[in-house]
Amino acid sequence: MIIGSGCAGLTAALYAARANLSPLVLSGLMPGGLLTTTSTVENYPGFPEGVDGYELMARMQKQAERFGARVQFATVEAVDLARRPFALTVDGERVETEALVVASGAGHRQLGLESERRLEKKGVTYCATCDGALPMFRNKPLAVVGGGDSACEEALYLTRFGSMVHLIHRRDQLRASRIMAERVRSNPKIRPVWDSVVTEVLDVKQDKVTGVRLKNVKTGAETVLDCAGVFVAIGHTPNTELFKGVLAMDEQGYILPQRGAQTSVAGVFVAGDCADHIYRQAITAAGMGCAAAVEAERYLASLNA
Ligand code: NAP
Repeated sequence: MIIGSGCAGLTAALYAARANLSPLVLSGLMPGGLLTTTSTVENYPGFPEGVDGYELMARMQKQAERFGARVQFATVEAVDLARRPFALTVDGERVETEALVVASGAGHRQLGLESERRLEKKGVTYCATCDGALPMFRNKPLAVVGGGDSACEEALYLTRFGSMVHLIHRRDQLRASRIMAERVRSNPKIRPVWDSVVTEVLDVKQDKVTGVRLKNVKTGAETVLDCAGVFVAIGHTPNTELFKGVLAMDEQGYILPQRGAQTSVAGVFVAGDCADHIYRQAITAAGMGCAAAVEAERYLASLNA
């Protein structure tokens, strides 16, 4: 079984299926994973013109299914990895597997503000591709929080809809790759707001986003910036709650791969963003998925030897 249907999970499924292991992919709540929320993927090899993120994932699933992988829309609620076969609780039902690939990915990190939580879906969002075209954002000033590639990508995408995009970053230098940073700098509709953090999303009383309260981290000055939407793009947290105390992980919750794609439990393998806070690319996740399936195949062969 493979938990997760992003680049890592579906590549593991492709390799496992071709090895006649009849893999079952448990998709999670976001089939296709985070890449389905991206617009154009320009750095996946083999697509010189770029490829739509959703389309890339649909193609990966089709390719895995062609060799016999099954993909089930399902959520894993609990795991028992103490004995073999491993037992998973999937949508209330117990299912067993001899080998497991964990490719559960990562979710969007939140600012951690009460006002952010209260105004989620009322102007606070974590995905410009999903929500950017909504009428409430059209021709209005918008704000993106973050300084990495995701924030730049969101800001660039939102220039299609908003009257102006404020890019709020806690430092005065972007973390993003040079090509993305350059695109942001040269776009007249994007205005960087440096050295600033959001301390409150306004306005909980009106039950919609009207602006953000900002604090300049260098001067301590507080200002209010008017905007109709807040797009938070400050990185990710691994989806590994299920494995706390079960698989070895670092203090941030990333599963620690051992000897390639193995984990602290024999027969459980790991791939993709749930185990990678360094590269976090579609292609590296796919590569790790391949490695996890190869390891699983060898492990299962050793059981039968
Ligand atoms: P990231 O590179 O970790 O950047 C997160 C950004 O959010 C950083 O600028 C960080 O500030 C800021 N941040 C983190 N916590 C914050 C907080 N609590 N409050 C305010 N700001 C906060 O994450 P990412 O942009 O999602 O990218 C993840 C990976 O995916 C990267 O490897 C990236 O290259 C890749 N990616 C690539 C593309 C592309 O190639 N087109 C697109 C999207 C993502 P600091 O800089 O001060 O740490």
